[in-house]
Amino acid sequence: MKKTVTALALSIGMLLPFASYAKNNVVVVATGGTIAGAGASSTNSATYTAAKVPVDALLNAVPQIQNLANVTGVQALQIASESITDKELLTIARKVNELVKRPDVNGVVITHGTDTLEETAFFLSLVVHTDKPIVVVGSMRPPSALSADGPLNLYSAVALAAADDAKGKGVFVLMNDDIFAARDVTKTINIHTDAFQSQWGALGSLVEGKTYWFRNIAKRHNNSSEFNIDDIKGDALPLVQIVYGSTNMLPESYLALQKAGVKAIINAGTGNGSVANYIVPTLNQLQQQGIQIIRSSRVPQGFVLRNAEQPDDKYGWVVAHDLNPQKARLLAALALTKTKDAKEIQRMFWEY
Ligand code: GLU
Repeated sequence: MKKTVTALALSIGMLLPFASYAKNNVVVVATGGTIAGAGASSTNSATYTAAKVPVDALLNAVPQIQNLANVTGVQALQIASESITDKELLTIARKVNELVKRPDVNGVVITHGTDTLEETAFFLSLVVHTDKPIVVVGSMRPPSALSADGPLNLYSAVALAAADDAKGKGVFVLMNDDIFAARDVTKTINIHTDAFQSQWGALGSLVEGKTYWFRNIAKRHNNSSEFNIDDIKGDALPLVQIVYGSTNMLPESYLALQKAGVKAIINAGTGNGSVANYIVPTLNQLQQQGIQIIRSSRVPQGFVLRNAEQPDDKYGWVVAHDLNPQKARLLAALALTKTKDAKEIQRMFWEY
């Protein structure tokens, strides 16, 4: 009996070194942001320089991630995310696309500045065809600060990217233990660690390296998307810009964008995507010259109703549904790679 137990213990012992082969492979694509930032002292939680720490140092600072998956890193960019242009966005998307196509990669984490993290996440959900988990993560405090939130966020992001039950659920934003859907998450506060919210709620929670799911997204994404990064050439998207609504608007704001060559304008209107009566003629003039007019709202919750505040059918305008202006900009740009038809663009806004 003793002999059998010893033999069993020996075989388990011999198998242990191979246990790591059972772990999933996760690649961390580093792009900069606060999660890679550095402050002058540990009490500088808000005053620091973003995008300083290289990917290897980020990974080495959280050795526990290697218990969750075989984790490797690539440095795609080192940038503060407010400075991301379509060129960097396409670079990130192409890198992620290349990684998810590799049979030896099970999931991808992107470390990113929080300012435009929601945009990159949404774009990836529209153009990368995969069912492998893609997780975009940031932090609100730099690694040099007391109670830095980056290490735990990174740990949770790796756990999510390695989770078999995350497959096919889309692109996620992981912040502060919450798993959000890329399409409806947004940064809502610029100083606290619980900086991200979705008006429709989180998809789930990530606690101690384990996923807890509560809902799925109803909209098209990833494998069911009609957009594909493989079809996008060059390093720019069709030019789309946003005009922010207020009282006392000037038509010149829109006309300046026309001069700059925009193909669509996202009107971040007041309330239900409202447009001032004295601005309507300018928008109709631009629409007749081929510029798409897309009504979003400066109000962070709810959704813009078609033909409610404005007769969209009559004017040939589009409503952005529940997409905030910055996400509407990306969907509009992708839509314009396929069509110039406002009705077709409206269909896309209903579906994504
Ligand atoms: N503004 C910087 C960025 O977006 C830092 C913000 C952050 O990561 O929290 O990269």
